[in-house]
Amino acid sequence: MTVLVRPQALENFKVREFQMLIDGKWTDGAEGGVIERRSPGHGVAVSRYQAGTKADAERAITAARRAFDDGHWSRMTGAERSNIILKAADLIAARSGELAYLDCIESGKPISQAKAELGGAVDIWRYAAALGRDLHGESYNTLGDTTLGVVLREAIGVVSIITPWNFPFLIVSQKLPFALAAGCTTVVKPSELTSGSTLVLGEILLEAGVPAGVVNIVTGTGAEVGAPMTVHPDVDMVSFTGSTLVGKLTMANAAQTLKKVSLELGGKNPQIVFPDANLDDFIDAAVFGAYFNAGECCNAGSRLIVHRDIADEVVKRVAALAGEVRVGDPLDPQTKVGAIISPEHLAKISTYVSNAATAGAHVSHGGETLDLGMGQFLSPTILSAVQPDMAVAREEVFGPVLSVLTFETLDDAVSIANSIDYGLSAGVWSRDFDTCLTVGRRVRAGTIWMNTFMDGASELPFGGYKQSGLGRELGRHAVEDYTETKTLNMHMGRRKV
Ligand code: NAD
Repeated sequence: MTVLVRPQALENFKVREFQMLIDGKWTDGAEGGVIERRSPGHGVAVSRYQAGTKADAERAITAARRAFDDGHWSRMTGAERSNIILKAADLIAARSGELAYLDCIESGKPISQAKAELGGAVDIWRYAAALGRDLHGESYNTLGDTTLGVVLREAIGVVSIITPWNFPFLIVSQKLPFALAAGCTTVVKPSELTSGSTLVLGEILLEAGVPAGVVNIVTGTGAEVGAPMTVHPDVDMVSFTGSTLVGKLTMANAAQTLKKVSLELGGKNPQIVFPDANLDDFIDAAVFGAYFNAGECCNAGSRLIVHRDIADEVVKRVAALAGEVRVGDPLDPQTKVGAIISPEHLAKISTYVSNAATAGAHVSHGGETLDLGMGQFLSPTILSAVQPDMAVAREEVFGPVLSVLTFETLDDAVSIANSIDYGLSAGVWSRDFDTCLTVGRRVRAGTIWMNTFMDGASELPFGGYKQSGLGRELGRHAVEDYTETKTLNMHMGRRKV
């Protein structure tokens, strides 16, 4: 059973029209096309963005280059930049209701969750502002009496920031404030499915005092706008979050002019549970981890790796709790699982489920698309008896689909966890400290949760091993990621030949 929340029609809804932000001015795209966004939960048009092209991307890059080279932003003191970023954080907080609403209706995520993401984003902007005042290098007094070595951190230059649709405001907030704190200038391309909140952020940044050209926001598709942003010689770094496939293309494009790349990519994250775990906590975290953001989450705990002795009990209890999850209207404050991003994506998820069933997996809960009168929805789904070599156990489904696999020994569990191409995050559940630490050290992933899942903090670095990405976001080194290192090697007194 699934608890359904039928979407209410959006009465008297006014579609929001957006322009792009280039060189401090709001502008239409060069070719005049428009992208219309339909709400995944309500099936009606909610936003219209400019369909930018290569010409718009290049205009924005030129503006960002000029703004970087004129030094107004890059040569400001850290304190001055930090104060502007803090002001932006206050303005984001003041407009968080509007921003959360946009993310909710454009992406289909539940409104309660969108609001929580905005709270997290404000904290990140404040954290980045604090780090920006502390950007410093090193000096060496160990090089001899006549030599002083100073290592400087300088802003890397123009940064292309490309983001996906699943956490529209949160992900741009994991990149932009750190790039700004370092003194970089930027061209931002949000997903063509969820550009609204990033465009409102543009208004906020102008109001906060970010100079013209420092943040440019170009909307459009990846092929038209994103790709040119990854090859243009005036761009110094690309910070990309999205699929592993496009991440690889981005890296290849950036290699043409040896740009630095930071890649936050896909995940297929295991939660390993031992018989001595606190099962009440685990069941709760398993359901949350699998169905949070309808499973459209790089961090989704989409693989349960369960000790054989407790597998039946775990499947039964996870299915029972999944049946209590409220699925439906993203705008209903009680909804926990909202809509699927697009009809095409829903079809792709459903194919994973039916292929897994054909390959021998058992559908222990859900699996069916839900007709709620409007929008597209899928019931929380559990597949048991999944084998490690099945596609559903190895590939990112990016939907509310949980695969349950079993293990006998700790070595088996680690080897199943590590047997795929991804390594973003993992959970381990046991009351035994040695077990948690042993598994935690041996699983190859950027974040390991022990007896919890998907908690985060601005202070904690986040990113992937293997094909889940390159580099880390957040944490105290996040601003440094947007810098170059320069060595000043100075001689004192007469130099002997
Ligand atoms: P996607 O790769 O299709 O698109 C991401 C962004 O790249 C979009 O803005 C898109 O327009 C742009 N793009 C597409 N083709 C491009 C090209 N050739 N050149 C440059 N840009 C291009 O991903 P998506 O469907 O929007 O998002 C879902 C994916 O993002 C999932 O794989 C998910 O795991 C991943 N993701 C990862 C993290 C993380 O932090 N690791 C966080 C969220 C999402």
